Amino acid sequence: MYYNNNTLIYLDRKFVNANKASTDLYSQTLHYGYGVFEGIRAYATENGTCVFKAKEHYDRLKNSAELVNIPFDYSTQELVDATYKLLEKNNLTNAYVRPLVFCDPNMSLTRPNKVSIMICAWEWGAYLGNKQLRLTVSSYCRPHPRSIKIEAKVCGHYVNSILATNEAKDKGFDEALLLDSDGYLAEGPGANLFFEKDGVLYTPQLGNILPGITRATVLELAEELGVEVKQGLFTPDVLDSADSAFYCGTAAEIIGIESIDNRKFPKNWNDSLGRKLQETYSQLVRISAKILSTTT
Ligand code: PMP
Repeated sequence: MYYNNNTLIYLDRKFVNANKASTDLYSQTLHYGYGVFEGIRAYATENGTCVFKAKEHYDRLKNSAELVNIPFDYSTQELVDATYKLLEKNNLTNAYVRPLVFCDPNMSLTRPNKVSIMICAWEWGAYLGNKQLRLTVSSYCRPHPRSIKIEAKVCGHYVNSILATNEAKDKGFDEALLLDSDGYLAEGPGANLFFEKDGVLYTPQLGNILPGITRATVLELAEELGVEVKQGLFTPDVLDSADSAFYCGTAAEIIGIESIDNRKFPKNWNDSLGRKLQETYSQLVRISAKILSTTT
């Protein structure tokens, strides 16, 4: 599904066959989840393939590594260039790009001396599908920001996301909604939350969530569209009186939320602010994204 005999991946400054590439079973990343990664999308645009917000993603990768003491000496530009080459070599235009920084063999809990980076890419449809989501509030909360670096995209943090996703699916829902450890609205397992009430958008403030690049784009687009957005700490009961809601993330883009624990949002999705932003976002990434990219 992700690769075949011809697929090339970028590994430590070389392009190698995905089938022949290997890693060490004693890697600290495999044993302890001590690695950092990104999720990026590339789109076919009228100006050719564009890796949307490539600089922002590789800057976040670097920041994630720094936050958890993983040595990482690649520049953002080098990785952006490598990504464009990777897409070209694999004949990909609309693709999902996954960079992963992983550690050398080390069974101790000390910081690594050496790391590797791999970047792979594959064609991937809308991560959460195209129909509106039925969510359930998770029994799992997001990790406490004093336990981990919540703003870093660290491999091990995703055990929390996997537990929440599977709990929701096992209960018959499409996706989970996680609260923070104080009981305030946080985010989805792999997406940020927005909700609409009386023509204003609301989203959980930074501090207990991953600072999503799509979330930042939605804030920019809302400003351009003249939509007011309030960031703050919100208890889940505010959703009972909200008009509509959506998740946003690189893989999912913008996706409407139909209900939370079977309580449907009253506003028709097609009339919601989320729908307007979904359309604007879709146009931005596919038509004019090149303008926002570092590489011309
Ligand atoms: N929250 C979490 C926990 C995520 O994994 C993601 C996906 N990276 C997001 C939010 C959305 O972030 P972005 O828009 O940068 O993809």
